[in-house]
Amino acid sequence: MTQTELASQTAAALPDDAGRSKGTIHVVHLYPREMSIYGDLGNTRCLTARIRRHGYTPVLHQHHPGAPFPEVAHLLVGGGGQDSGQARVEDDLALVADRLRSLAADGVPMLMICGMYQLFGNAFITVAGQRLPGLGILDVTTQGNAKRMVGPVVLRTDVGEVVGYENHSGSTTLGAGQSPFGTVLSGIGNNGTDGTEGARSGNVIGSYLHGPVLPANPALADSLIGIAAEQATGRPFEPEPQDDAFADEARTRQVRRLVR
Ligand code: GLN
Repeated sequence: MTQTELASQTAAALPDDAGRSKGTIHVVHLYPREMSIYGDLGNTRCLTARIRRHGYTPVLHQHHPGAPFPEVAHLLVGGGGQDSGQARVEDDLALVADRLRSLAADGVPMLMICGMYQLFGNAFITVAGQRLPGLGILDVTTQGNAKRMVGPVVLRTDVGEVVGYENHSGSTTLGAGQSPFGTVLSGIGNNGTDGTEGARSGNVIGSYLHGPVLPANPALADSLIGIAAEQATGRPFEPEPQDDAFADEARTRQVRRLVR
C-alpha cells in the first residue's frame, strides 16, 4: 500500500468533519511497529483526538521502514523501543534523515520519546556496546547501562509541571549549548546527576517520559497542536475548550505525591 493510500485510508477511518474543519493537520508517526512501547501509541491517539476536538481535521500517516516519507508533515511523533527495535529502524532513519532535519529546521513540531529521543541525538551506544548513530537534531549523546532507570517522574517545563514514567538503560548527556526539555522535580531524567530531563531545540522535543505523556499532560499536547495548526493553516491557532478534568486531577495527584 502506498503512503497516499494509507493516509487516505486512515483519514477515512476518522469522522469526516471536513465541511466544518478549521484546517487539515498531517501527523506523522515514525515507526509505530518498532518504536511504540509502554503505551506511547497513546500520544498519537491523543494528538488526533485533540486535533479533531479543536475543530481541525487530522490525517495520520504511519511511517514504516522502506516506505516513502509522507509529502506533507505538520507534526511528528515517535515513541520508545527496545535496543533491537532501534537497530531495526536505523537504515530507514539514515534514508529520511535529510527530510527530518529540514522539517526540524523549518520549525515543524516534533515529540520524540525515549528510544526515538536517543536516535534524534548524536548517537546511542547500547549496553552491549553497539553504536547506533543518530540524526544529530538534538545535541545529546546516550550511553546504555546495565542498571535501568525506572519510575515516575515530575518535571518543571515551559508548559508547566509535566508528569510521566521513565524506563531506560540509556544515560543521556546534553551538549554544551543544548537546552533540556525540563528540570527534574522527582525521578531520574537524562542521567540522574545534572537534574535535566529530555532536550528541546526549537519546536523539537525529546523526552524519556512515557505514560503516555500527552494524555496525561494536555497543555503539552496543545502546545504542539497549536504550532502545527498555525503552520498548517497560516492562521493563529483557534482552540476549543476541552474537558481535561481527569487528566488534571491525575497529574495533580502525582505531583502532590512525589513533590509536595
Ligand atoms: N532501548 C533504550 C534504552 O533502554 C530506549 C528505551 C525506551 O525507549 N523505553 O535506553
